[in-house]
Amino acid sequence: AAKAAGGDRFVFYTRDMTDRAETRLRLESGLREAVAARSFELVYQPKIEAASGRLTGFEALIRWRHDGAAVSPADFIPVAEDTGLIIEIGRWVLEEACRTATRWALDHGPVPVAVNVSARQLADPGFARLVEQVLQRHGTPAHLLELEITETVIMKDVRHHLPTLNRLRALGVRIAIDDFGTGYSSLAYLRQLPVDVLKIDRSFVNDLPHAPDIASTVIALAQRLLLSTVAEGVETAEQRHWLAEAGCDCLQGYLISRPLAAEAAEAMVMTAFARNEALALTA
Ligand code: C2E
Ligand code: MG
Ligand code: MG
Ligand code: MG
Repeated sequence: AAKAAGGDRFVFYTRDMTDRAETRLRLESGLREAVAARSFELVYQPKIEAASGRLTGFEALIRWRHDGAAVSPADFIPVAEDTGLIIEIGRWVLEEACRTATRWALDHGPVPVAVNVSARQLADPGFARLVEQVLQRHGTPAHLLELEITETVIMKDVRHHLPTLNRLRALGVRIAIDDFGTGYSSLAYLRQLPVDVLKIDRSFVNDLPHAPDIASTVIALAQRLLLSTVAEGVETAEQRHWLAEAGCDCLQGYLISRPLAAEAAEAMVMTAFARNEALALTA
């Protein structure tokens, strides 16, 4: 019986693996075409100050429609990483986000835009130079660019990434640790890292207000290290209330707004400045 089951399974897995390999190949060739045709888009999700509700910035998130359907970045970014296509995609994201931040600053007022940086991009020896060139090319003040790097990526090889992070910081770019709390941070390293922001991972925000231990700990740690905190994935009024009370600096999530197309985000920037509801930049 075991043998028969094993036989069945073998057939099942083989077909499954073939399907997956096909899906993967289709994704890969689609990505190559998309890179060549620049057929990606950025959407922008606002962040607000928890205490006042003022607009503090946006996170740029990539979108890709392939064969008429939206493909989640959670699915295609790993493929882009494996194939090295992330280098070109990442450069496009950086250019587009800087172009947008500059235009908003000129037309409405200065609003920081955060960009996600993947492992392979950060490991690229030319990354800091690329960021510098892109800022120059678009006339973007460095303090309007924030780079989000996940905790796992930074901590996996801190010593290797440290020179790049220091160079980026020296440019005046802000650095955020994304998905904080999901990885394994060495507290000793965290103290030495040139970072400005800890983004509390959505999974811990999701636990609020019932299981607040991790969120509390991250906020206390950030306060101790003079870092600012952003809560990701805020979906309910209860979460928002808890985070504001606990002293979390900024909030991001569907409760505040879904990620917006560039035009809708710009309208939000315009309104915020018109009503004096954008946070004055200190840098
Ligand atoms: P992330 O950087 O942690 O981005 C936050 C993700 O949470 C986004 O998903 C956002 O749309 C989603 N989100 C925001 N608020 C809520 C909420 O209240 N509830 C829920 N359930 N989700 C919320 P998205 O856009 O699908 O991106 C997924 C991940 O893909 C990102 O996680 C980031 O790691 C990666 N990614 C996105 N854009 C880029 C990019 O331009 N470059 C790179 N390297 N990675 C990117
Ligand atoms: Mg992010
Ligand atoms: Mg995140
Ligand atoms: Mg996250």
